[in-house]
Amino acid sequence: MPSFNPPLRVLMGPGPSDVHPRVLAAMARPCIGHLDPVFQQLMEEMKDLLRYAFRTKNRLTMPASGPGSVGMETCFVNLVEPGDTVIVCQNGVFGGRMKENVERCGATAVMVTDDWGRAVDLNKVRDAIKANPKAKVIAFVHAETSTGARSDAEAICKMAKAAGMLTIVDAVTSLGGIPLEVDAWGIDAIYSGSQKCLSCAPGLSPVSFSARAEEVIKGRNRKVQSWFMDMSLIMNYWEAKGGARTYHHTAPVNALYGLHESLVILQEEGLEKSWERHKKNHLALRAGLEAMGLELLVPENERLPQLNAIKVPAGVDEAAVRKRLLADYNLEIGAGLGALAGKVWRIGLMGSSSTTNHITLCLAALESVLPGAGMKIARPGAAVAAARAALYPN
Ligand SMILES: *Cc1c(COP(=O)(O)O)cnc(C)c1O
Repeated sequence: MPSFNPPLRVLMGPGPSDVHPRVLAAMARPCIGHLDPVFQQLMEEMKDLLRYAFRTKNRLTMPASGPGSVGMETCFVNLVEPGDTVIVCQNGVFGGRMKENVERCGATAVMVTDDWGRAVDLNKVRDAIKANPKAKVIAFVHAETSTGARSDAEAICKMAKAAGMLTIVDAVTSLGGIPLEVDAWGIDAIYSGSQKCLSCAPGLSPVSFSARAEEVIKGRNRKVQSWFMDMSLIMNYWEAKGGARTYHHTAPVNALYGLHESLVILQEEGLEKSWERHKKNHLALRAGLEAMGLELLVPENERLPQLNAIKVPAGVDEAAVRKRLLADYNLEIGAGLGALAGKVWRIGLMGSSSTTNHITLCLAALESVLPGAGMKIARPGAAVAAARAALYPN
């Protein structure tokens, strides 16, 4: 059996995004013991880097060892107990997974549902709070990667706080890509992922819990049903109380080198600069797509810059387009999920994949393959020109 050698792709789907060469290089450094004093220094730095990215002072801030789904489950299993009621907002795939998590914790999920491709409707959240004053938690997805919709996290957290409820926020795709303020918005539990706007390899999930959430975890009636995700145990590994860290599980050492490097890169660029870059590149991609005659799914003021869902025009074979992009240009874009399967393409402009070159390649490649898949291009060349005009107005 020969060694495995993956092709060099351009990743413009819903994640993973292109992993920065510095991150790949960091991951190839020598493996050391996870209790090595040098590694413990990395763990300390990691917590500070994550606090910077999340804009929080939360003590309990660290990466969970596992993909975004593990971060999601970590938040739910620690805060939700059997018999609790949780208000879950669903406007895409990931809200549905939150419901699953709530039910598997033995709790009741009260659903607030919105159309796929729309933000969470704040009026519906208000009504759900009124109808369920005893609910313990409100859970929602800040950036719905399955549809490209952005919800007003600040407003939802404000309502939750006023009602005395905790919040669990999915920030897997939002962290690093759009404004996110854990402390200023009063978020109680949040999880993200390494492979979206942080442009690290998949497999780690930054999480953070507020002091209020920490109190709730400490005051639980029964043990967290998941031994692996029990924060009261994980804390002792990440906190080094009294100088000694106690073994919980072997941290994914080299994966953590990668996340550390990706957060250093984010800090070097600056969080606000990163948000601006994502926005500017989104506007350029959008200008190009529209010049080509394509339409975005999400209404303008609810769009995510880092995930662009495009309506597949009638008569176009959407899978054939993705296949050609991959075969001819090594370019990956995403398909629709769930209710949107076959109806949209999803183009990610996340982290290292949010660049002028990515936009130009994607527009030119799309324009070259769409005619073969059943869509006439009225003005060839107009897409790249429109994107350029948006990026370089003078
Ligand atoms: C990708 C994603 C997840 C799941 O992350 P995995 O790393 O695939 O487990 C959860 N929520 C949102 C919004 C996502 O985009």
